[in-house]
Amino acid sequence: MMFVLTEAAPSPRPPVALLNNNRAEFDTAKVLQMLPDNWSMQLISQFLSSSIRKTVNGSRMLRVEHMLARGAYLQTKQEAIECCSNVVSLTDDSSCAVCGKGFSEPTFARYPNGVVTHVACAKNKSVCPVTGKLFRTVSVTTATSK
Ligand SMILES: [Zn+2]
Repeated sequence: MMFVLTEAAPSPRPPVALLNNNRAEFDTAKVLQMLPDNWSMQLISQFLSSSIRKTVNGSRMLRVEHMLARGAYLQTKQEAIECCSNVVSLTDDSSCAVCGKGFSEPTFARYPNGVVTHVACAKNKSVCPVTGKLFRTVSVTTATSK
């Protein structure tokens, strides 16, 4: 009787269990490149299905974020268009709505209702000095978007 001793193939169970139970910790593409050829797809099916689910979910979340950012961009663009469409022209005959004096300097204040005053006469940016109308207060930033 003769026995041939061969080195037993290592059992894949611990690595498979590690993959299937800690799928969030592994990069799916790298794992697939490193898998031994003799491992069946069924062996790591739990890992694969979870990875695919995670990837699809991540892709959908990115798409939602992209669409929300696009909505915010379009809203800002619309506000910029509306803001630029209200052009203020000051002539020699133009006068401040508060003090009635002409504009000697190129700076002025314009309220959303069209009232134009000197910057010094615009004491409260949220309240029109002529009509007393209250405007919402928003922080103004310089926008240079395209
Ligand atoms: Zn004035």
